[in-house]
Amino acid sequence: MKKIAVLGATGSIGRSTLDIVSRFPERYQVVALGGGRNIRELIALARRFQPQLLAVQEEDGAGELTQALQDFGLSIPVMVGQPGAVAVATYAQADIVIAAMVGAVGLEPTHAALKAGKDVALANKESMVMAGRLLNQVAAETGAAILPLDSEHSAIWQALNGEPKKGVEKLILTASGGPFRDFSLAEMGQVTPEQAMRHPRWEMGPKITIDSATMMNKALEIIEARWLFDIVPERIEVLVHPQSIVHSLVEYVDGSVLAQLGLPDMRLPIAYALGYPERLALDLPKLDLATIGQLDFMQADATLFPALKLVRRALAAGDSGAIAFNAANEVAVERFRQGEIGFLEIAETVEKVLDQVTREDFSTLTEILDFDAQVRQSIL
Ligand code: NDP
Ligand code: MG
Repeated sequence: MKKIAVLGATGSIGRSTLDIVSRFPERYQVVALGGGRNIRELIALARRFQPQLLAVQEEDGAGELTQALQDFGLSIPVMVGQPGAVAVATYAQADIVIAAMVGAVGLEPTHAALKAGKDVALANKESMVMAGRLLNQVAAETGAAILPLDSEHSAIWQALNGEPKKGVEKLILTASGGPFRDFSLAEMGQVTPEQAMRHPRWEMGPKITIDSATMMNKALEIIEARWLFDIVPERIEVLVHPQSIVHSLVEYVDGSVLAQLGLPDMRLPIAYALGYPERLALDLPKLDLATIGQLDFMQADATLFPALKLVRRALAAGDSGAIAFNAANEVAVERFRQGEIGFLEIAETVEKVLDQVTREDFSTLTEILDFDAQVRQSIL
């Protein structure tokens, strides 16, 4: 029986994970769940999975949750804030931690899980972007594994299939192109948060949905891949593929290209990471290529999506570049959602911040969190 702790249990990835887990009660047991502000959802999850530990974002939510659990005759300890998330991430009984919080807040618990020697199934790409070097080092020290959940990285993991790295020519990350692939720059300038929230292929949380519309998501995924697969960024490319069936590809030095295909459903990469090295038999709709008929591929337009150029600058600026890139994007996405800035200003904010960054590499979590805070402060 594999014991599972889920951070971000109330989110899109959290829910997909719990869907997979509940299909295999003989294989998996949920021992700890962390949520944010959606207390109603966490109450439902706590009743259903009866974990031994719960965590929420705020005190008020903890009170409401504890009261509701008592009403249902359940007595489960509830912890709060980052210490709560860290407690879930390091819960002694857990064998694997699903890191599915959104944003930089996911870094500390992810780091703590690896430090405690827990395998981490990683959806929270922001933590790898901010601290890939450090997380890899901690994982190497404790023997913990970092298993990709992001669909592109899961595809690459599968297409690499344990082959020696020297045979790899490049990694090709596919991108749907989001809802504005065919827009003009002028049209992009008018995009509302509501429009940006409608992704053509994937159902995801709000932040990553907007990141997909700006292609900041793909930019973050380049940095994520750089650390997950320990490969120089020059060997990572992006290919637009609107149908989101080919989830990514690996080109080898002999010219062979291996890809992983599947319907766009996050439960596939989640099940792959949970079951690894076994494959779980999933009763989900299967890919029918004859019905789909056609798969299209095209170059990404870096003029429409400046994120793809900015990320190269961020990478050239070392750890500080990547942290600044992520922090500026998080702040800008939040402002865009609040209607304070326009869609194109998200990339502009990131560019302005990158203009100020000097290259610096960091070896501790404190340095990374301090620099992240410093960048956010400089934008406010
Ligand atoms: P959601 O917004 O749907 O979920 C985010 C989760 O994080 C929720 O459970 C939320 O709690 C919790 N959370 C947010 N802030 C805090 C906080 N301060 N403390 C504790 N918990 C918090 O996001 P997604 O599930 O879409 O994405 C999660 C991560 O996975 C992101 O990093 C994203 O980039 C990545 N990812 C997502 C994919 C997808 O298909 N959704 C695909 C690939 C990667 P609550 O809702 O209760 O407030
Ligand atoms: Mg992805």
